[in-house]
Amino acid sequence: MLRSAFRRVVSKTAFKNSLTTLRPGFFVRGYASAQDISTLLLVERNGNSIAPSTLNSLTAATKLGGEVTALVAGEEPDNVASEISKVTGISKVLVAKHKLYEHGLAEVYAPLLVTSQKKFNFTHLVAPHSAFGKNIMPRVAALLDVAQISDIIDIESPDVFIRPIYAGNAISKVKSKDPTKVITVRGTAFPPSNVAGNNAAIEVAPDADKPSMTEWISEDLQKGDRPELGSATRVVSGGRALKNRENFDKLIYGLADVLGAAVGGSRAAVDSGYCDNALQVGQTGKIVAPELYLAVGISGAIQHIAGMKDSKMIVAINTDAEAPIFQIADYGLVTDLFQAVPELTEKLKK
Ligand SMILES: Cc1cc2nc3c(=O)[nH]c(=O)nc-3n(C[C@H](O)[C@H](O)[C@H](O)COP(=O)(O)OP(=O)(O)OC[C@H]3O[C@@H](n4cnc5c(N)ncnc54)[C@H](O)[C@@H]3O)c2cc1C
Repeated sequence: MLRSAFRRVVSKTAFKNSLTTLRPGFFVRGYASAQDISTLLLVERNGNSIAPSTLNSLTAATKLGGEVTALVAGEEPDNVASEISKVTGISKVLVAKHKLYEHGLAEVYAPLLVTSQKKFNFTHLVAPHSAFGKNIMPRVAALLDVAQISDIIDIESPDVFIRPIYAGNAISKVKSKDPTKVITVRGTAFPPSNVAGNNAAIEVAPDADKPSMTEWISEDLQKGDRPELGSATRVVSGGRALKNRENFDKLIYGLADVLGAAVGGSRAAVDSGYCDNALQVGQTGKIVAPELYLAVGISGAIQHIAGMKDSKMIVAINTDAEAPIFQIADYGLVTDLFQAVPELTEKLKK
């Protein structure tokens, strides 16, 4: 019954093609060859390991041409430094060891990046477009008196970048004439680099100021066995239609469990307290591009679509056949989620 109710929705490509291409920006200084380019990649850590978004950013950094130096900072960063030195595409690793670098405070990281840039004349500074990178890089750009180039999804040349604007409704081509480009990279737009086969040199990063105007107090992280939303290959997301947290926990987590999927939510679900705001997908939440995105009781507002439209396969369950989510869905089920989700979960279990 479920199977026959699925219908192919063909307008996903049309929707993507309707994205507007804006006119290019201004000109800029060029680069004679790859030797003129050298990039500093800011490594994001998950404790003692490399955050996956770093490997996607490295792919973008290598696309610029020239050498890529990784910068690892933390209280005990040696393990991450050793890990990143093995990743294909890294020429050298700079390590800054200090307890003030443990928690990604922009106030202490920014002088470290600027000092490293001044010493080695990096032409490009690259970081993931994550909370970590978004926090640090604008401060770096301000200290270097250059424009920040945010959330790039492609690189045309070392000074021409492609990035979404207006919540992904238009694609902008930006040409930067700044001598140093400060860039954040949308991880879902670049594949991760290979984690083996390299042996880059590791050296101590230049000593930089460590301003003390900001102090790290504490953090409250939810930990679990579930895949991380930003890098999961399958995501089940719930919307306002779930009605309350109990339904969200039972139905969305139940379905995610059998699929081995991460859980996401619309902003309405977050604002109504059905799920944590770390799970919000969209313009003001996380950007995801899994193999499978299952949207349950989500209307498909443009701000939500901005966060998931690059998913490889989108499946939507909604009672309203006219809901905008069906315009980008590969498969749509027009039915009541309170019947469909338990049935789907049971069938998948078998
Ligand atoms: C500046 C700004 C930023 C924003 N950022 C985000 C963001 O990052 N992420 C985000 O998600 N939103 C964001 N929003 C909010 C966004 O505009 C929408 O309000 C929100 O996405 C709606 O969430 P929803 O689809 O869960 O709820 P609704 O729009 O209320 O949709 C609920 C859907 O459930 C369907 N439904 C109802 N009952 C059932 C049932 N029993 N079975 C199946 N289907 C059912 C309905 O037909 C409807 O389509 C932002 C808004 C603004 C202004």
